Amino acid sequence: MRPSFLPRLVNGPFDDPSLFIPFFYEKRAVIFDLGDIFSLSARDLLKIRHIFITHTHMDHFIGFDRLLRLVLGRDQDLQIYGPENFIKNVEGKLAGYSWNLVKNFTNQLTLHVTEVHDNYLLTKDYICQNGFIPASKAVKHPFKEPLHNERSFSVFTRILDHSIPCLGFTLKERFHVNIMKDAVAGLGLEIGPWLTEFKQALFNHQNPDSEFEVKYGEEQHKKTYVLGDLAKQIALISPGQKVSYIADVVYSESNMEKIVELVKDSDHLFIEASFLEKDKDIAEKKCHLTARQAGLIAGMAKVKQMTPFHFSPRYQGQGHILEKEAMDAYYDTLNQ
Ligand SMILES: [Zn+2]
Ligand SMILES: [Zn+2]
Repeated sequence: MRPSFLPRLVNGPFDDPSLFIPFFYEKRAVIFDLGDIFSLSARDLLKIRHIFITHTHMDHFIGFDRLLRLVLGRDQDLQIYGPENFIKNVEGKLAGYSWNLVKNFTNQLTLHVTEVHDNYLLTKDYICQNGFIPASKAVKHPFKEPLHNERSFSVFTRILDHSIPCLGFTLKERFHVNIMKDAVAGLGLEIGPWLTEFKQALFNHQNPDSEFEVKYGEEQHKKTYVLGDLAKQIALISPGQKVSYIADVVYSESNMEKIVELVKDSDHLFIEASFLEKDKDIAEKKCHLTARQAGLIAGMAKVKQMTPFHFSPRYQGQGHILEKEAMDAYYDTLNQ
């Protein structure tokens, strides 16, 4: 089944991180981290609707200004998620500029900023025309996974440790339903609007033992089926794509457990691999992973594809060594 989006790192592995995920059939995109995003075209940046920030170390958030500059004066709703203290960081960024002229803008730009805590979320909205001064205090609401949920995909998160809270993310595409037209004809039915309802019933996880009425043909013939039986006869159901992004975490048991659980069986895992194993003391001090540790996690989680990134500049020219260390550990763990 053809996936509906294709993730790509915006830069090479030594540059500030961002994972851009454009959708094929819609003019929209999701982005994980806003590092150096200058190489993304304005056209691509304007597709972004949802932004997920792991943490606000400068290398992961410096691109916020670039994106804001571009959407200023446009009709846009941006959903931005980040870890504890994220609201304060966003407000700090917004406070860095003068906004006296924006009240004349006719277009409406709104930032919906959400901060992720253990058991709750804090959300605050900022409207450009109001000079980004929020109308009210942050709204607190209970946090239940997924962090973000909509028709075609969901985003899940875990709060990880990087000496500060740092979020790991997984984007899960909804499963696909393909209708086998020959099988429909074989049942004596005709293709029609009922198939949209049928697919919707499956997407809504309607009870497979429930009845489903098919109305077809010009004369609106009616036939009743058990939903699950009909699905077995006429539908091919294939899982959606799962893409995960882990940046900046210390190698600890608690982090490992949470990451493996979150990214388990991902089709593609992007994972930081800042240091070589021979420098694991430095990695530990800076609360980063070594390439070997990254590979180990990917192998334990049985991901189908791994891309290590966020290499420390000290290894310039040795990217292939980091890559090999990560891949060796990944395949070794996978084949154990
Ligand atoms: Zn960091
Ligand atoms: Zn970093």
